[in-house]
Amino acid sequence: MSRDHDDWKAYGPQTRAVRAGERRTLEGEHSEPIFATSSYVFESAEQAFARFTGKEHGNTYSRSGNPTVRVFEERLAALEGAERCIATASGMAAILALCMGVLKAGDRVVASKSLFGPTMTLFQNILTRFGLDFTFVPLTDLSAWELAAKGARLLFLETPTNPLIEVGDLKSLAQIAHTHGALLAVDNSFCSPALQTPLRHGADIIVHSATKYIDGQGRCLGGALVGSEALLGGDVYHFVRTAGPVLSPFNAWVFLKGLETLHLRMQAHSATALRLAEWLERQPGVRRVYYPSLPSHPQHVLAGRQQSGGGGMLAFELDGGRDQAWRFVNALKLLSRTANLGDAKTTITHPATTTHARISPEARKDAGVSEGLLRVSVGLEDLEDLKRDLERGFRAC
Ligand SMILES: *Cc1c(COP(=O)(O)O)cnc(C)c1O
Repeated sequence: MSRDHDDWKAYGPQTRAVRAGERRTLEGEHSEPIFATSSYVFESAEQAFARFTGKEHGNTYSRSGNPTVRVFEERLAALEGAERCIATASGMAAILALCMGVLKAGDRVVASKSLFGPTMTLFQNILTRFGLDFTFVPLTDLSAWELAAKGARLLFLETPTNPLIEVGDLKSLAQIAHTHGALLAVDNSFCSPALQTPLRHGADIIVHSATKYIDGQGRCLGGALVGSEALLGGDVYHFVRTAGPVLSPFNAWVFLKGLETLHLRMQAHSATALRLAEWLERQPGVRRVYYPSLPSHPQHVLAGRQQSGGGGMLAFELDGGRDQAWRFVNALKLLSRTANLGDAKTTITHPATTTHARISPEARKDAGVSEGLLRVSVGLEDLEDLKRDLERGFRAC
C-alpha cells in the first residue's frame, strides 16, 4: 500500500493530506493503527544483527523509528514536496535538532528578529553557550540579511511572524543564503503546507510546530523537520534517534487525523480571519489591523505570491494603552484568553504582558509590540459570533 515520494507527486495536495504514507497491516484496518510499542521482535539472531547494523531495513526500537510516526513523516514530507521528514516531540525539539544536526561550534546563524519567544531564548541564552553565534536582523530588511549572511552557515526565519504577521520574502532570502553557501530554514508553523510550501521558493529545511495547525484542535505537542534526504538523513536523524526527542506514536496518529482536514481548516481559518480583519479595520478605536490579505498590509503583494491564503493569525492595535487592552480582553465571553494558537477555538492574547512580557520595554518596542496590541488566532466558529464577542470588548474600552 505504501508508495514512495515520487509516486505522491502525481497526486494533488488534498489527496496527499488524506492518503500519503498509508499502508495496511494484515488486519485490513482503514484508519492508521497506533503502534504503541517501544521495541520490536526479530525472527532470528541473524536478523537482529542485520537490523542493528543497518544491512536490513526495519524496526528495532521506537527511538529510531515507529510505524505510526513514519506514516506521519511520509505524509508531511509529501505535503511539503520533500524527500524526507523527521518528526520530533515538539516544535522546539525540531529547532534544536536542526541546530544540533547542521551546526558545529564556531558556526554563525543569521536569524530574524521576529521569532517565537522560546526560539529566541534557545538561540540567545542556550546555544550561545556551545560556541554558536547569532546575528539578528529585521525580517523584511533584505540588505541587512545580505550584509549579515557573509560567512554564515544558516539563515533562520518564520513567515508570517508572531505577533505582527509580517511576511518574509522566501525567494530573495533563499538567493541570499545560497550566494553565501548558507542554508535557509523556514518555520512554516503559521501557514502549514496547506497555504505555503517554502521548499518551492528555494528554502532548504522546513520547521514545524505540529502543535498548532497540523493538530488544529489544541491536543498534542509535536514538531517536524522537512527537507532533502541529504540534509536530514545524516546528522539530523542521527541526533534525534540518539538524543531521543522523538514524537510519540499517539501524537503522530492525532496529527495524521489533523492532516486529513488541514486544507479545509486552513481555508476556513483564512476566510473568517479576512472578514474579521476587514471588520476590525472599520471599528472606531482600532489604530491598525495586521493581516496579510488586507491591502493595507505592507507585504500584501508578496503574501499573495507565496501564500495561498492569509491564515488564521491576525493582530490589531487599540488606540489606548494597557488598561484599555486588558478591559477589552476581560470583557470577552467566547474567545479564549490563552496564548495557544492554531486551534478550532478562537483565542486572544495581549502580547505585551504574555508572550513578550519578559523582554525589555526597548526590545518590545523594537519588535513593534505596543501596549494596545492584541493578537487573535481565528478559529472555526461562526463569524457573527466572533464579531458579537469582540463588540463586548469595544464597549468595555
Ligand atoms: C509554537 C511554536 C513553536 C514551538 O512549538 P512547540 O510545539 O510549542 O514546541 C515554534 N515556532 C512557532 C512559530 C510556534 O508558533
